[in-house]
Amino acid sequence: MNMELSRRAFLRSAGAGVAGTAIGAFGFGGIEAAHASSIRAFKLTTMVETRNTCPYCSVACGIITYSKGDLRKGEKAELVHIEGDVDHPTNRGTLCPKGAALLDFAKAETRLKYPMIRKPGSDKFERVSWDQALDRIARLMKDDRDQNFVAKNNDGVTVNRWTTTGFLAASATTNETAFVTYKVVRSAGMLVFDNQARV
Ligand code: SF4
Repeated sequence: MNMELSRRAFLRSAGAGVAGTAIGAFGFGGIEAAHASSIRAFKLTTMVETRNTCPYCSVACGIITYSKGDLRKGEKAELVHIEGDVDHPTNRGTLCPKGAALLDFAKAETRLKYPMIRKPGSDKFERVSWDQALDRIARLMKDDRDQNFVAKNNDGVTVNRWTTTGFLAASATTNETAFVTYKVVRSAGMLVFDNQARV
């Protein structure tokens, strides 16, 4: 369906909605709900629904994304709509203004989609593979920890501190992922640890 048709359909529906409201005022109360549900079904027909989590803050509201095209069938999928997941225990279908604007965030041309690196002396970022990025991060972390790990303080007390590297984790995640992330970071001795909900 093209945008022109969609707009006309919407205007027709809006007209019907006004009529429905007027009729409702005369005692046909259920007609608005029936009208809304008929539009809803029309809007989501042929869409592929996928559950996800809003990436913005630590509330981690559940969302459902709607795409045209099914990746499982080898089709190209285009994201067309995002709304709150009514079955999610945290938000029960609601979204704050940031979450309600997620479609623009997901489709922003400036959104980072893959690892990038700016080499020493360079004035631009270059795309690298996930393997390259993770290998480099692991190498730098290992080298820094080997050089700066503090096993004991000046009084000879065991402290096992690594204060020269910090870790920024994701707040919009599951309890299980957060638990594992916390264990990895703290067991390495890292003290500087935060997530984007406080940035
Ligand atoms: S930004 Fe809003 S919609 Fe997203 S998780 Fe936080 S409260 Fe929920």
